[in-house]
Amino acid sequence: MKSLRHIFLILIISISNNINGSEDNKSFQEQSMLAVLYSQTSAEFSANNIQTYNNARLALDSALLDKSWSAALEQKDNYKNKMPAIILDVDETVLDNSAFQARTILEGISYPNGWVEFVNEENSELVSGVKEFLLYAKDKGVKVFYVTNRIHILEEATKNNLKALGLPFDEDIDVLLMRDENGWTRDKTSRRNLVAKDYRILLLVGDQLTDFISSEESYVLHSERKKLADKYSSFWGTKWFVITNPMYGRWEYSIYDNKTPESEAKAEEIRKDSLRP
Ligand SMILES: [Mg+2]
Repeated sequence: MKSLRHIFLILIISISNNINGSEDNKSFQEQSMLAVLYSQTSAEFSANNIQTYNNARLALDSALLDKSWSAALEQKDNYKNKMPAIILDVDETVLDNSAFQARTILEGISYPNGWVEFVNEENSELVSGVKEFLLYAKDKGVKVFYVTNRIHILEEATKNNLKALGLPFDEDIDVLLMRDENGWTRDKTSRRNLVAKDYRILLLVGDQLTDFISSEESYVLHSERKKLADKYSSFWGTKWFVITNPMYGRWEYSIYDNKTPESEAKAEEIRKDSLRP
């Protein structure tokens, strides 16, 4: 009975923390307000995404003509006559979930609280430029794969959302590869390997380094991580197209050296220490 009371108490505390948030939690979440406003309100952000997808379309034309072209590090040999495909991440690459980020500020909650409920609403909007690009790719006979770290139980809702937006979505094989599905981990390397078996991968599009390279390589301190942009300089804008995500991502976690800070106060302290005046 005592333990039941204990569980009940924890439940109440966690519900009040998750839904209402403490004042402290709210002020911490509010630090991402400008990033979310930039994503939601600025013409510059939309223009940048349209620019990225317009350039990706030009690259697609070149890739289709050049059979020796592949964008995937996982693609080793014997791919010249394979069917053409492209791989896109979903969140903040195809689907704009800034509404979820706005909620975390207004409600003082943080991911993953409220995320499953948000995805199940199936109301995420399009990232600017992506629909035109994907319809062009589809028209050219290119297979479109979505490789996402949304968890497997969200597959149906994600598929419904993508289809409702009028995006290409083939049903002959699984084109939506989720985390936890078939034992797939957060690292997308094995899923790129799988696509590379039957397809020549023309382009990769994403908002995180791990949409292009392994987790092992990218889970490093931010100063080392930043060097990876230079290491792959010949890929960006030719075979790899990156969407800017100022709201969240591994870039933030790498500031904390890929360890969860013990408190929000500690996270804030590390954030300030990482600024370069
Ligand atoms: Mg993403």
